[in-house]
Amino acid sequence: MRDAILICFIASALAASAPGGDRFETQAGALEITPIMHASLMIRAGGQVVHIDPWSRGDYEGLPKADYILVTDIHGDHLDPGQIAALRKPSTVIVAPPAAAAKIHGARVLRNGESLTLGRWKIEAIPMYNLKRGPSPGKVYHEKGRGNGYLITYGGLRIYIAGDTEGIPEMRALKDIDVAFVPMNLPYTMPPEEAAEAVKAFHPRVVYPYHYRGSDLSVFEKALAGTGIEVRLRNWYP
Ligand code: ZN
Repeated sequence: MRDAILICFIASALAASAPGGDRFETQAGALEITPIMHASLMIRAGGQVVHIDPWSRGDYEGLPKADYILVTDIHGDHLDPGQIAALRKPSTVIVAPPAAAAKIHGARVLRNGESLTLGRWKIEAIPMYNLKRGPSPGKVYHEKGRGNGYLITYGGLRIYIAGDTEGIPEMRALKDIDVAFVPMNLPYTMPPEEAAEAVKAFHPRVVYPYHYRGSDLSVFEKALAGTGIEVRLRNWYP
């Protein structure tokens, strides 16, 4: 019995860290999402690779270079010029909000509310910002308009990458989200209970807590129990 439990544990640990990542079916074939670290992840579909917020603290050994790179904001855990350079090919398209694009040679600017189609991928820039949290009174860590969350659609599958944000109205108003990545860490974003409230409002099919360093994810899981929203925990801090 103990051995069986141990084997199950090892099998699930291997599945979580498999290079293929988590598989989703779309109208255009399979899509795989690989959590890498903190806010960094990779999406693969149709022979193409999208890296989101690649950061050199993650383990990129053996991972493919990017056809597309999406950058959410200017902070070092989201915009790492060295890691972007390591994943970039001559043909790679890099998409970023204006403040981040200014720091990346050749990046395409996408502003909050704008969208862009890259082959089979549709990319929409969703606002990401603090409602109240900041380094000092009257200031916030993430000002509205500076950073982008992204809504990525591939083969009808809708993936929302929230970026560093609190539970803003633009998040709550999202519809038909299949997979969501939502941050929950203080002081920069929001606590797990607030994240759960916002997630309930837009009701994705699957939600991954990410950008959660040090937070108690059981609070998030409990708050969403019985809602029908699947919470997927992965190790974002190996
Ligand atoms: Zn961050």
